[in-house]
Amino acid sequence: MTSEDHRRICVLAGPSGVGKGTVVAQLLAQEPRIWLSISATTRAPRPGEREGESYFFVDDEHFDHLVESGEMLEWAIVHGKHRYGTPRQPVLDAYAAGKIPLLEIDLAGARQVRQSLPEAFQIFLAPPSFQELEARLRGRGTETEEAIERRLETARGELAAQGEFDAVVVNDTVARATGEILDLIAPKR
Ligand code: ADP
Ligand code: 5GP
Repeated sequence: MTSEDHRRICVLAGPSGVGKGTVVAQLLAQEPRIWLSISATTRAPRPGEREGESYFFVDDEHFDHLVESGEMLEWAIVHGKHRYGTPRQPVLDAYAAGKIPLLEIDLAGARQVRQSLPEAFQIFLAPPSFQELEARLRGRGTETEEAIERRLETARGELAAQGEFDAVVVNDTVARATGEILDLIAPKR
């Protein structure tokens, strides 16, 4: 790492439906130095999600193994249901290779990373309002009503914790939020 290299491992958290996936796609399209961590999860793939692209889809037994062998940088039960976690070594390898590793994870996971990698830069992506968050979640149309209710309940707790983060970026428009995050994590040298 040279004195001009300000790369940090980055965490992006925020409630389900705020637009994390949408913003991350823009970040990746605009900044080739960013490397997105692929999480392991015990939830089933949604239509169109591919193994090793969206997630590594694993069963409970495999997830237990990843946790017990210490391979997870962090993991959490998200929305009271399935387990999600970040494999550690790929993140460290990407950083060593000169990339800016980006972890799109939930609040509990962000808190674990704050303990184990305090030098990581943590961003909270916030909705312009709770009503807008609800509209985006419903508008996406990928969850059942029960799952939407559960995610909105989780969101209240997540929004209350935004003060813990190094930066809060409001996802008002995708272009503006993406630009602000790029200024924070990938400033032009
Ligand atoms: P998350 O990954 O945080 O769960 P998504 O990226 O899936 O959220 O976005 C949820 C929904 O909100 C999607 O339908 C997406 O197209 C929409 N969306 C994302 N960002 C914005 C924005 N800035 N303005 C309006 N709609 C947005
Ligand atoms: P989804 O099921 O909609 O893909 O993701 C649900 C939530 O899980 C998202 O809000 C996302 O931030 C979180 N998540 C995804 N991967 C991980 C991970 O590796 N660790 C943690 N802690 N949360 C994750």
